[in-house]
Amino acid sequence: MNNDTFRKELHRFADWIADYYEKVDGYPVKSQVQPREIFSQLSRMDCFEEVETETLLADFERILLPGITHWQSPNFYAYFPANTSPPSILAEMLTAALAQQCMIWETSPAATELEEYVMSQLRDLIGLPETFTGVIQDSASTSTLTAMLMARERATNYSINDRGFSGERFRLYCSEEAHSSIEKGVKIAGFGKENLVKIPVDGNFAMIPRELEARIQQDLQAGFLPLAVVSAMGTTGSTAFDPIREIAGIASRYRLFHHVDGAMAGTALILPEMRHLADGLELADSFVFNPHKWMFTNFDCSAFYVKDPEALIRTFSITPEYLKTKRDEEVNNYRDWGIPLGRRFRALKLWFVLRNYGKAGLQTKIREHLRLARLFAEKLGSRKDFRLLAPVALNTVCFHYEPSNYAGDLNELNAGLLDRLNSSGKLYLTHTKLRDQFALRLVVAQTDTTERHIREAFDFIVKTAEEIGLE
Ligand SMILES: *Cc1c(COP(=O)(O)O)cnc(C)c1O
Repeated sequence: MNNDTFRKELHRFADWIADYYEKVDGYPVKSQVQPREIFSQLSRMDCFEEVETETLLADFERILLPGITHWQSPNFYAYFPANTSPPSILAEMLTAALAQQCMIWETSPAATELEEYVMSQLRDLIGLPETFTGVIQDSASTSTLTAMLMARERATNYSINDRGFSGERFRLYCSEEAHSSIEKGVKIAGFGKENLVKIPVDGNFAMIPRELEARIQQDLQAGFLPLAVVSAMGTTGSTAFDPIREIAGIASRYRLFHHVDGAMAGTALILPEMRHLADGLELADSFVFNPHKWMFTNFDCSAFYVKDPEALIRTFSITPEYLKTKRDEEVNNYRDWGIPLGRRFRALKLWFVLRNYGKAGLQTKIREHLRLARLFAEKLGSRKDFRLLAPVALNTVCFHYEPSNYAGDLNELNAGLLDRLNSSGKLYLTHTKLRDQFALRLVVAQTDTTERHIREAFDFIVKTAEEIGLE
């Protein structure tokens, strides 16, 4: 493709993007395709026949768009968000164009220094003390694994990296409600899933510190080596908050590495009035939150903060001859701050988002999401046939439908309700189980969700539930 054609196509694609955002709330939010539908259409075409970009775009619309779940629809309330925004998308366009490989300072001084700068600005924005140093990872899962590896190495004077395990029986701890990425990290880091101890939660789905301490003591007596604890700052099920300060006290008494997982909820810390949810966070050894979830920044952008960057670097650095440079003493080489060598230029979109919204703009949007979640919860609370199943600490509302005198199985009723809602295409919610109860989850976090969307969602949920209740 020559540059003139490329320029024309860039304009065409730019228009496509702007058009998409104009009508994004008109698509079925959850893709309605059946399994293999997309694949079989693809299989019928010749992948290697040379075609123009016009054809590529047309085929993208015809074949793939029906199989797209519209995460950027204002009616998307499922899972946790992966939202974005115009400044982030514009930055990603530049990122794609420059196609940087940001493994070391020399391969992209701007990406390296912008990452260092933007991570310190983000740290100040969320009220983390200067004792933390940040690096961008691809995901919270990777950040948490990285924290575990760092904990493992620091506790063994970096010997497992050299010799492998020699019979150490480590134990790690998190709550029963903590994210599956913790278990995955424990498996990958070589501790063994059985050595992740899941601590019971209280009525609000938060870890009970007393139970944590009891398990640590029990493990010590049984000859295990308690290594690390992960606090959940906003669980994925119901956005519950572990008592970080109390857990930090226990971590310091038993010399555990303390990692805090605030993947989605971390964004709320840009609001001073929400910082009580992370009380004690300054005592942790590491913290992760994802601007790629709730902070208008394209996936992937996970902000990982550590107190001891030296330990992090010592865990991961390998310097073969071909990667040595004269500047290694003066600059950050982020390949040594995590698992992969190659790294995308991820700081640019974060910088664009922070500067385009500004602090006040970000705070306004996050406050509005919190207000809308409370509004939805209040409207549900005003009805006798709906029940909230967990406290609404932030932007996640867990609820179920419970018509009076209903003799059937409430879990089945609500699973049916969820299916009916999602197959309408009008909105998209997902579910969780809370104390064996099937809970619908509505998370208010999409960039363009407004009060009108929330009111319409509420009315539609009530209407659909009533229809189902009558059947
Ligand atoms: C989403 C989530 C994760 C995983 O995030 P990724 O960036 O997709 O790895 C981890 N912990 C919590 C609490 C989450 O909500």
